[in-house]
Amino acid sequence: MNVCESETLSSMLSTYGMVQINNTLDADIIILNTCSVRAQAEQKAFSYLGRVEEIKKQKPNIKIVVIGCMAERLGTKVKKRFKTVDLVLGAKDIDNFALKILNLCNFEKISSDILINRSSEIVRYITIMKGCNNFCAYCVVPFVRGKEISLDNKGIFDKCKVMVKNGTKEIMLLGQNVNSYKYNSTNFVSLVKNICKIDGLERLRFMTNHPKDLSDDLIDLIVSEKKICHHIHLPMQSGSNKVLKEMNRKYTYEHYLELVNNLKNKIHDISITTDVIVGFPGETEKDFNDTFKAVENIRFDGLYVFRYSPRPSTKASTMFDDVPLEEKKRRHSIILNASNKISTEIVSSMVGKTFEVLAEGFNFNVLEARTNSGRKVFIKDTDKDYIGKIFKVQINESKVNSLFGNIV
Ligand code: SAH
Ligand code: SF4
Repeated sequence: MNVCESETLSSMLSTYGMVQINNTLDADIIILNTCSVRAQAEQKAFSYLGRVEEIKKQKPNIKIVVIGCMAERLGTKVKKRFKTVDLVLGAKDIDNFALKILNLCNFEKISSDILINRSSEIVRYITIMKGCNNFCAYCVVPFVRGKEISLDNKGIFDKCKVMVKNGTKEIMLLGQNVNSYKYNSTNFVSLVKNICKIDGLERLRFMTNHPKDLSDDLIDLIVSEKKICHHIHLPMQSGSNKVLKEMNRKYTYEHYLELVNNLKNKIHDISITTDVIVGFPGETEKDFNDTFKAVENIRFDGLYVFRYSPRPSTKASTMFDDVPLEEKKRRHSIILNASNKISTEIVSSMVGKTFEVLAEGFNFNVLEARTNSGRKVFIKDTDKDYIGKIFKVQINESKVNSLFGNIV
């Protein structure tokens, strides 16, 4: 979501002649987009702002803007701590980001016609809903992003159409809880069905899905609609019912497993990825083992594991954070190792087989493509004319999470 919002902001500013560059020392303005989900993300932002202070000493006129969730959570406190910061724009104010940045730089007006990225990138993200109403006990998102709001389906559809007209082949719909999308009589299934009708669109993905809202209708749509990719990110968080309840996730492990089995039975090549938190308050060795067993049993195609980090305002921050850091680290590495092993096995079982890929980019003479299941494939000795095309590759090598192949 942050990548998507940074891209949108960048394209809005570019219509006013601003150019995005990668070398901070050449920039006239630095915009730092922040995340608040874990304390570590905020610490990274702080240490970056520390480095930026040095840049401002060399280049006093450079403007520093902090946007996003951390900006929302801390507001002017960011400015108090880092005097070099010129502007702090909280995540809830996202619609006005560009205007305020333009004001800071003395630009006078902003056109309403700039909300679509005009570049012709092959894969584009689009936010279909903002905020979240779920209040998972550990999560700061509902506090920094506000309540869940689904965006106008017609607006979303029109933006998708423009993107496709400009050359986009794959669209990823984004929301904290995409499958609970509802705008008047349009639900997520009808929105997706409609977008899939756009001529020229080849692939559609969406994330993140909350297990409590994953309907049979949506699973059936993935089966019947060819453009929907066979990949679903379905955060499990824990394999222990006790912990899931404490987390306020509103499903049991049995329900989660039923969804996974249902998906695997109906879509044989579905790729399922997940998020797991270890060391949530009160997580015993047995609870942790339930998560470990779930990971071994389900064999996710990909998994992100996080050490629980208490976040201000959340329900869990009032609970006793009783799992010591060392123990959290131990549990984290057990899950990570198990998941890496499974991932490596899955990836190496793909060697020798042929998959359809969409080429997204070309870097250092290597074509970067992606399978329908979302895995990146690198193709050497070819040319960039393949970008934007769908074709078959045979996988001839695998390394941890990367695949290498030849066009067949
Ligand atoms: N809306 C998405 C999640 C957004 S946050 C969803 O419901 O899946 C992304 C991931 O960060 C979460 O799935 C969770 O695993 C992790 N996370 C969120 N808050 C956390 C915290 N306080 N400590 C550790 N991990 C956390
Ligand atoms: Fe956070 Fe839960 Fe909402 Fe995801 S669904 S953003 S984890 S509160």
